[in-house]
Amino acid sequence: MADFHPICPKCDKVMDRGHLPDALDHVSFVLAKWVPGMPEERRFLGGIKVHADDGIPVAAYRCPGCGYVEFYARPA
Ligand SMILES: [Zn+2]
Repeated sequence: MADFHPICPKCDKVMDRGHLPDALDHVSFVLAKWVPGMPEERRFLGGIKVHADDGIPVAAYRCPGCGYVEFYARPA
């Protein structure tokens, strides 16, 4: 996605690439991923079930002009 440069739909500026850190705890982070389907809750452990192999890392693009953010999950 190095050559992917979306344009802000609000003010037509080139958006800056970023990402969404997903906290494992207060010092460890991974990339947030898009996964298909509806979330399914885990009964006893809490949280939701995730099949990590199905996920696609999410890139976040932010407009430097107005701050608008768009998310893209595109395979590498
Ligand atoms: Zn903008």
